[in-house]
Amino acid sequence: MDIQTGIRWMELFNEKVQQEKDYLTQLDTPIGDSDHGNNMSRGMAHVVEAIDTQSPNSLEELLKLVTTTLLSKVGGASGPLYGSAFMGMLKTYQGDGSSWSKVLQCGLESIQKRGKAEIGDKTMIDVWAPVVQAAENEQLTNEVIDEAVEATKPLKARKGRASYVGERSIGHIDPGAYSSALLFHAMLEAEA
Ligand code: ADP
Ligand code: MG
Ligand code: MG
Repeated sequence: MDIQTGIRWMELFNEKVQQEKDYLTQLDTPIGDSDHGNNMSRGMAHVVEAIDTQSPNSLEELLKLVTTTLLSKVGGASGPLYGSAFMGMLKTYQGDGSSWSKVLQCGLESIQKRGKAEIGDKTMIDVWAPVVQAAENEQLTNEVIDEAVEATKPLKARKGRASYVGERSIGHIDPGAYSSALLFHAMLEAEA
């Protein structure tokens, strides 16, 4: 990952979030409070605006900008969680010139530190964990990402707002899992 690819990644993520804003809201309706589309769309609009005005010229600067923007501009659970993800990635990237899969893994660990969710709790972790694993094995594909999203459907939510509806969360895709899939589809597209 270099700075050009990183900027392209965020631009593509923004495009996908804006395109699928209504669907993200729809996913957040039966098992949440119908704001995930708005939260992500507002946050990513601010991110691309900040990229435009600040023109980061290293991946470190970019990751920092994304972290602070998401933490300050997005409410709800997803802002702090995505913010933590980018903060974790930044920390590792600065640290020891780690491989990109290691950087992603630290993003995942950082979300878990913040939100305390485990695999199977029906959250964004259920996309991040298999993606990190596949990236480590150099087997990350769009199919891997989509399968992980689908696999959240039969799960009963144990974290976040969706856990309030208990059994009724079964049978629905988790909104944060879906937005995380957009993030990783954008990453593969930017890297291609
Ligand atoms: P809110 O639930 O506060 O309205 P959003 O609707 O923007 O925030 O985001 C909801 C998403 O956040 C969920 O679909 C889930 O993927 C994710 N989420 C919620 N709580 C946690 C948690 N503790 N750990 C990981 N992800 C979580
Ligand atoms: Mg919500
Ligand atoms: Mg909310």
